[in-house]
Amino acid sequence: MGYSYDDQNIFAKILRGEIPCNKVHETEHSLAFTDIAPKAPHHVLVIPKGAYVCYDHFAQEASDAEIVDYTRAVGEICAKLGVSPGDGGAGYRMIYNAGDDGLQEVPHLHVHILAGRNIGPLVVTPT
Ligand code: AMP
Repeated sequence: MGYSYDDQNIFAKILRGEIPCNKVHETEHSLAFTDIAPKAPHHVLVIPKGAYVCYDHFAQEASDAEIVDYTRAVGEICAKLGVSPGDGGAGYRMIYNAGDDGLQEVPHLHVHILAGRNIGPLVVTPT
């Protein structure tokens, strides 16, 4: 069936400049901004500018240029935040949610970069 992209999602509106964001970083194909409801001292969302719903959509349909740009942007943001372990930073967690089971709320690909404290267990098992 494939993906159908809803261009009325909140991140599409941010990309069109219809609503503001607290920009952290921008490249030709990617944009990063702080999460409006931060779950850690650093909580940055990185999105591609292209219309991709989630990670597998992006991985299968984005151009090589978009994928390289997005991957490099994540690295640049980790450096900017000072969290890269290779540079003495304390580390971070990256989370991509997708679809219903992943509890994805906004249907535009985004990675959460969480840092600035111990982020805790990988997954909390539902009770
Ligand atoms: P997810 O559940 O992975 O789709 O996460 C969506 C994230 O987007 C949540 O952490 C929200 O707090 C965040 N969010 C929603 N609206 C905005 C906004 N206008 N600016 C920044 N972050 C937002």
